[in-house]
Amino acid sequence: MSIGEVLDAKFVSISNMLQKLKGTKCPPSSLLIMFPHCIQWSKCPQKITLDLNECKACGKCKVMDLIALSEKYGVQLAVATGGRAALQKVKSEEVRGVIAIACEKELRIGLMAAFPKAIVSVPNLRPNGYCKDTDVTMEDVEQSVRNFLEESESEKETPEPE
Ligand code: SF4
Repeated sequence: MSIGEVLDAKFVSISNMLQKLKGTKCPPSSLLIMFPHCIQWSKCPQKITLDLNECKACGKCKVMDLIALSEKYGVQLAVATGGRAALQKVKSEEVRGVIAIACEKELRIGLMAAFPKAIVSVPNLRPNGYCKDTDVTMEDVEQSVRNFLEESESEKETPEPE
């Protein structure tokens, strides 16, 4: 690991700690999961960057799981295709919380560019190196979603046992 990679990882880890202390909550419709295109299986012919509905849910990559998770919780899901579009989406007013999946370097750049947006970072897994057939631990993504979401109305209304 290079010094740059170590520093990026530290930056991301400290940012996540601060975000945890801040404890931002938001409704599902204001929560965005953003993932990098390199999570898509490199041999997949589907044009998911144009439309996530293009995914055939074959299970060869985590795009299928990310779509299922976003549907389960009713949160927004977007592919980060690089450039300004992704940053604009993250910074938009209707997005109050972001779960960003990427390598530590991209996360650090995104965190700095989108400050002070509430962003929780989930570093990706790179069994094939950077930018190709990357992966993510879905349990980490789901836990981050749960941490962001406000208590449901039913939970709020349920009185604590005496
Ligand atoms: S899960 Fe979707 S995006 Fe991934 S390889 Fe299959 S069809 Fe392509």
